[in-house]
Amino acid sequence: MTPLFDLAVIGSGVVGCAVFRESVLAGLDTLMIERAPDLLAGASKANSAILHTGFDSKPGSLEQRLIRAGHREYLAIHERLGLPLLKTGATLVAWNDQDLAQLDGIDAAARQNGVSLHRLDAEGVRRREPSLAPTACGGLVVDEESLIDPWSAPLAYAQQAVVNGGVFLRNSPVASGTYEDGAWTLRLEDRGEGEKTVRARVVVNCAGLQGDIVEAIARSSPFTIKPRKGQFIVYDKSAYGLISSVILPVPSPVTKGIVATRTVFGNLLVGPTAEPQDDRDVAALGRPQLESLKAAGERLLPSLARHDITATYAGLRPATEFSDYQIEALPDRGWITVGGIRSTGLSSALGIARHVRGLYEESFGRCRPLADPLWPRVPNLTEEFPRPGFQPDRDDIICHCESVTRAEIRAALSDSPLPAGCIGGLRRRTRCMMGRCQGFYCTRRVVELAAPYLPELATLGPGGAA
Ligand SMILES: Cc1cc2nc3c(=O)[nH]c(=O)nc-3n(C[C@H](O)[C@H](O)[C@H](O)COP(=O)(O)OP(=O)(O)OC[C@H]3O[C@@H](n4cnc5c(N)ncnc54)[C@H](O)[C@@H]3O)c2cc1C
Repeated sequence: MTPLFDLAVIGSGVVGCAVFRESVLAGLDTLMIERAPDLLAGASKANSAILHTGFDSKPGSLEQRLIRAGHREYLAIHERLGLPLLKTGATLVAWNDQDLAQLDGIDAAARQNGVSLHRLDAEGVRRREPSLAPTACGGLVVDEESLIDPWSAPLAYAQQAVVNGGVFLRNSPVASGTYEDGAWTLRLEDRGEGEKTVRARVVVNCAGLQGDIVEAIARSSPFTIKPRKGQFIVYDKSAYGLISSVILPVPSPVTKGIVATRTVFGNLLVGPTAEPQDDRDVAALGRPQLESLKAAGERLLPSLARHDITATYAGLRPATEFSDYQIEALPDRGWITVGGIRSTGLSSALGIARHVRGLYEESFGRCRPLADPLWPRVPNLTEEFPRPGFQPDRDDIICHCESVTRAEIRAALSDSPLPAGCIGGLRRRTRCMMGRCQGFYCTRRVVELAAPYLPELATLGPGGAA
């Protein structure tokens, strides 16, 4: 007989991982179902990695409340999970009189959102960020905006769920489902091994970019996903010191605009663009957009022109026709919808998870929180703390650009509660192939180490040769 879980989460983006963790810690027997070979296969694999305060969110919106709650909880738990927090703060910069005229309104909305800002004149902006173009004419400082590791955070949430009894099912696209006698039977796409089903009393739809498609399993979806692409340029580590805080523009109602920020890995990032598209899976890079992004970066920071570009990438926001999150429980369907978490899910995920737990308790019954849960730590990948590659007794270095050792790669492939399931997952867990050479020098050795563990490499011959 197929086991009956209390709760099944569909989708292991950052939101699903946080819901998975919260549900397991609440004492619910929980199953995570992911269609891809590893977590973070959708929107969550590519973002700006800013832990937002929600200062510029619409006051009173669900998004604003859950960003605040998520931000708070990240601060409370990150050390126990080994997660970084780079407290850079942000500088919102006015570049003209029109921008200056908006600062009072932004300040007032931030106060309503519980975030206090302070004002800078042109001289104050120059003192705080001397590399900015001299046309900066004023600004606001947001002290609590911070930077985090966008991949280790969801990994830490999912790992904590797994070591405390949660079950993580990969390569399992949910194709359809039926709700009968108070339980869901979800059918997983047949991948040549015959049809599989799983059962749960309650299903939480965290399918991100596929959110409306998965929602159609329970009802006609009340929202439609309208992917919005964001492209980025990653500058070499030499550019890291050009700014000390996140440089924000005055936002528009549609986008937070082009940001320049450090990363916790020691680079400098410029982006994202905001480009609507129909495709939910492929975030293609476009030369003209990258060229205008580069020009925009150099308008902000003229000396950026002297620094090399390490990489470019793009992500897709799971936007909908609504500006707010679409989160709702359907008590008579055993279903909780978590959709349209477009541009702020990394910051709000832990707040969303708490909110979902509240909806579960209201609609489906009380939880039995674990008395003494385990707190597994993720490996440190940032420059903030010592890394194995810099220790005197270190193992062989495989990726020299990011100083990733053989031991770190082996641990991510086999000695972890949630081992990497694909090369992308291995990169996100270790930073191998993510440095200056983008894998030009280390790919062969990484593939040699990974081939026994990753099915996608199984067709490669010895040494990774096809
Ligand atoms: C350009 C850009 C910049 C951003 N910057 C920031 C930032 O600085 N700070 C911030 O807080 N947020 C930021 N965000 C937003 C954040 O990345 C998103 O809000 C978040 O990733 C949404 O996550 P999700 O879990 O809802 O969806 P997803 O990450 O899309 O996760 C959905 C998961 O469901 C799986 N799935 C789908 N269908 C099925 C199925 N049928 N069966 C099983 N599994 C399924 C997918 O494979 C995927 O793993 C940014 C986003 C973008 C694109």
